[in-house]
Amino acid sequence: MIKRSISITLFLIYLAVTVQVMGAGTSDPADLIAEKKTAAKWVDKNGKEIQAISNQIWDLAEIALKEFKSAKLLSTTLEDAGFQLKRGVSDMPSAFVASYGSGKPVIAFLAEYDALPGLSQKVSTKIDPVVAGAGGHGCGHSLFGAGTIGGALALKESMVKHGLKGTIRVYGTPAEEQVVAKVFMVRDGLFDDVDVCFDWHPSNKNRVRVQPSKALRSFEVTFYGRSAHASGAPWKGVSALDAVEAFATGVNLLREHIPTTGRIHYVVTDGGGAPNVIPAKASIWMFTRAKDWPEVMKIYRHVETIVKAADMMAWGEEYGDPDTGFRTAEINMLTGVYEYNHNKEAAKLVHRNLMRVGPPEYTKKETRFGRKLQEAFGVEVEGYHTEVAELDLDPLPESGGSTDVANISWVTPTTAFSVSNWPLNIPAHSWASTSASGSSVGLKAMMNACKVLAFNAIDVMMDPALLEPVRKEFEESTKNFDYADPVDAKTKPSLPSHMR
Ligand SMILES: [Zn+2]
Repeated sequence: MIKRSISITLFLIYLAVTVQVMGAGTSDPADLIAEKKTAAKWVDKNGKEIQAISNQIWDLAEIALKEFKSAKLLSTTLEDAGFQLKRGVSDMPSAFVASYGSGKPVIAFLAEYDALPGLSQKVSTKIDPVVAGAGGHGCGHSLFGAGTIGGALALKESMVKHGLKGTIRVYGTPAEEQVVAKVFMVRDGLFDDVDVCFDWHPSNKNRVRVQPSKALRSFEVTFYGRSAHASGAPWKGVSALDAVEAFATGVNLLREHIPTTGRIHYVVTDGGGAPNVIPAKASIWMFTRAKDWPEVMKIYRHVETIVKAADMMAWGEEYGDPDTGFRTAEINMLTGVYEYNHNKEAAKLVHRNLMRVGPPEYTKKETRFGRKLQEAFGVEVEGYHTEVAELDLDPLPESGGSTDVANISWVTPTTAFSVSNWPLNIPAHSWASTSASGSSVGLKAMMNACKVLAFNAIDVMMDPALLEPVRKEFEESTKNFDYADPVDAKTKPSLPSHMR
């Protein structure tokens, strides 16, 4: 009998060690603290439901500020689990804030769920839209939304079971692709009492990323002219399209003289209706980007002067004379984001949990799927990122992208991680990342994100002193930064005219 129990004990030790060596995520590793074990178990047990939510959002593929059904699905899931809901915050029907628990620390998770126009795609290894021209989740925001909700619910389970104290807030933030919602939610003070914000984003790598993003200002300029027959009496007309072209040319000349970290790009959103009608109205949507907000504003002020100059070129001697039908060009400020102020102390905490959870493990079938995607996309066939990248706290100074999470990072300590939801070398915003985001590959990696999010919050709730170095770094990094809202109090969230 004693012999038998010894052999059973040995067998159990063997099992525990094997599970750990296999790095089978966090399902039930022996050395995980009870609070994290509860959260990990919740994720494993409820994974199918969270994945079903992600798939529904992937199918809906609703684009910026029209994510009504996706927002409802996510917020109702939280409400049904006992979270307090505030919907339609900051004048956006598809935005919400969900809270659970009370008191300090107040921890923020972010959810995004907007799709990209034109990226409709089936789960396939070739280009194959569900509906040609419709939206698709090329940035993986279906996983982003559902994964965050999964992380919050796993955390709640642990809070209830182990009596953890604090508040978890889930921010439902629409229109990330147009960097809109968070700018207005920060302006309206919705993050003012948050102690730390744990963000994540789907990607092709498992890593904590502290690379700064670019500051950006997004605006649409509308020029007005006077219609006339373009061949019969062109001298009687004033072309608003001429003004757009003169403006774009002026900006393109400016391009040579901005700092190398600056970027300017645009699309013409309204160029008139027909060649034989001189356009009385024309619009152009532009981004100015730079390494930081002051640099963005320096470029922007020069661009603003070119708006007036282009308007004068189109109207000539009639410029400014209301009797001629003159109407001055209008600038519609859409949004503005700062460069990201990454909190490195928070990044260290997240990195520990990302290491603990480990990379996702893919089946042979999933590996074949990933390699086929890489082949079809014409990138190096290297499979998936199967490790967790080392934490690099001093990465290259800039990336090309911008995010509205950056604005949160100046009002509360913020950090972000990613997991490998699609194969290496596959870029975001592509048909291939859309395909992977709807596949078991994207869904599997999302489960890891749920666990990392929950673990981060558990660490902070169990030991709020962990936030002291985080807070100290935040105060140091913001002491010379005067947060001025990039959009004024009257501006409401909106999109360029052709997307409304
Ligand atoms: Zn994104």
